[in-house]
Amino acid sequence: MRTLAREIQGLELPAVEKISEAQADEPFQILIATLLSARTQDATTHAASTRLFKRARTARSLARLPLDEIERLIYPVSFYRNKARHVKACCEMLTTRFGGRVPRTMEELVTLPGVGRKTANLVMILAFKSRDNICVDTHVHRISNRLGWVQTSAPEETEQALYRATDQRWWPVINLYLVTWGQNVCRPLSPRCGVCAIAPECPRIGVRRSG
Ligand code: SF4
Repeated sequence: MRTLAREIQGLELPAVEKISEAQADEPFQILIATLLSARTQDATTHAASTRLFKRARTARSLARLPLDEIERLIYPVSFYRNKARHVKACCEMLTTRFGGRVPRTMEELVTLPGVGRKTANLVMILAFKSRDNICVDTHVHRISNRLGWVQTSAPEETEQALYRATDQRWWPVINLYLVTWGQNVCRPLSPRCGVCAIAPECPRIGVRRSG
């Protein structure tokens, strides 16, 4: 992790991290940007979030927007119709149940429409500075298995296994480090093992071909 901390300096950060930095950790915007980011290129997420927040900056104002306008604003993020429905429903629930604010617990966050553990963990880490959460997405799942930290078949299982396998001081940054590494070096297909700074520590479990 110390090597990764050094190596990711200067690499492109994940979109949600950029939004988190730009929005001074505003929980609502971090939550919505994370919802939009699933299976979507970072640049597309960033552009869509910027358009959306220019039009409506709070849960109340976003909940009032017509669905087709939200769809237009976030297009072309993947599954934009579904995501627009989730964004609107999520904003309505934030307004009616939580006074327009993003709740601060995992138990409450996962009751919001479209919010699973991955999104909830990332909001806890980025917006509320939690040191008790690990956010596992496809990059974290893949790389922690390649490194041999865990032996798991699904991200949900990986999250629990990582709590047992890693030192708590790294939990808040595991997502940032491994997502950045996954987008730049340890790619899904053909990981760049030849130029990887952590190759000496990596057993490359399950890697058949490197680029
Ligand atoms: S050595 Fe290869 S498989 Fe291991 S972390 Fe680096 S890029 Fe990924």
